[in-house]
Amino acid sequence: MNKKINNIALIVAGGSGARLGAEIPKQYIEITGKSILQRTIEAFQSHPEIDLIQVVIAKEHQEFLKQGFLKTLSENNKLLPVTFGGENRQESVRFGLEAIKKYNPKNVLIHDSVRPFVSHNLLSEIIKKLESQGFKCAIPALKITDSVKEINENIIKRSLPRENLVTVQTPQGFDFELIYDLHNKFQGKNCTDDSALAELAQQNIAIVEGEKSNYKITTIEDLKMAEMELNKSKQYRVGSGFDVHQFEEGDGVILCGIKIPFNKKLKGHSDADCAWHALTDAILGAIGEGDIGEHFPDTDPQWKGANSEKFLSHANNLLKSKGGELINVDITIICEKPKMKDFKTAMRENTARVLNLNPERVNIKATTTEKLGFLGREEGLASTANVSVLI
Ligand code: MG
Repeated sequence: MNKKINNIALIVAGGSGARLGAEIPKQYIEITGKSILQRTIEAFQSHPEIDLIQVVIAKEHQEFLKQGFLKTLSENNKLLPVTFGGENRQESVRFGLEAIKKYNPKNVLIHDSVRPFVSHNLLSEIIKKLESQGFKCAIPALKITDSVKEINENIIKRSLPRENLVTVQTPQGFDFELIYDLHNKFQGKNCTDDSALAELAQQNIAIVEGEKSNYKITTIEDLKMAEMELNKSKQYRVGSGFDVHQFEEGDGVILCGIKIPFNKKLKGHSDADCAWHALTDAILGAIGEGDIGEHFPDTDPQWKGANSEKFLSHANNLLKSKGGELINVDITIICEKPKMKDFKTAMRENTARVLNLNPERVNIKATTTEKLGFLGREEGLASTANVSVLI
């Protein structure tokens, strides 16, 4: 390695999150379109003084990575390949330290994967203590403002003076060599944080002011709070789309991925799914991403006969990658024939499936032009689509 590695972030994501009672471990739960773990990683990626990021996951959680819970995993050069954790948090950290030893880092910032709201300022303060103030350990701590009591099986035993008590958070910053040695020396102590090991070795541990917003997402209530926080800065946007395809000889039209028997078909480079083309354009429109033709040129032979589900999924993935969420979809199909009545439910459900939406948020309407114009003369079929998104 040519460049001196000053600061590596070690993000510990091995936990199973039993307290939250969710089906998947809490670090993989998505809040407004992004997993908690990914949000945590991004908080470090965007900090200029963090050189590399090592994520420690549980071996049995590999499937979550494959399912795309870490979308930027291979795209950012700060991010090292994941390494696997051990039986408990302390062991997972030790394995993580082992994995990054080869980079010979000066400092390591050890962080819980479920604290996604850590600020750049807090990272800078921790780094400052290690870099310019000569400390080998620096951790964020919060003064306690509530009264503190000791309990015994839900009965108060006594009050504790809170003046000298703090709660501590992560990231906890350490001189790498020191914490590496301590983790090897104090194996099996099962400490809940890393500064406890520095305490055992009677090291001076500097504190910096923690942040209430840097809370650990542990309960359903925490999760709801995180969601509210993230949605606060979002806004509603709308998009609209319009498409027309001409009829030609055939045995049916494809709309919303459903084949509707008819004595004609729609002419087009792809499968000519007029409704999904309008919908794709509506989604692209809502997020300022141009139109379907720019993303999938009809001069490109690879889209010949293509299933329009590809186009629609692409637009929806783009929306999600920007942290957006589809709120509702409203499609109107305009033609004299074929009649849509018997197919609307299937079209609705199929669209909801592709967009991973509740079908209740998808509406399909059909209308005619009272025999006026090219649609009235049954020369073709048109669709409009409107969407609203929260982004
Ligand atoms: Mg089209």
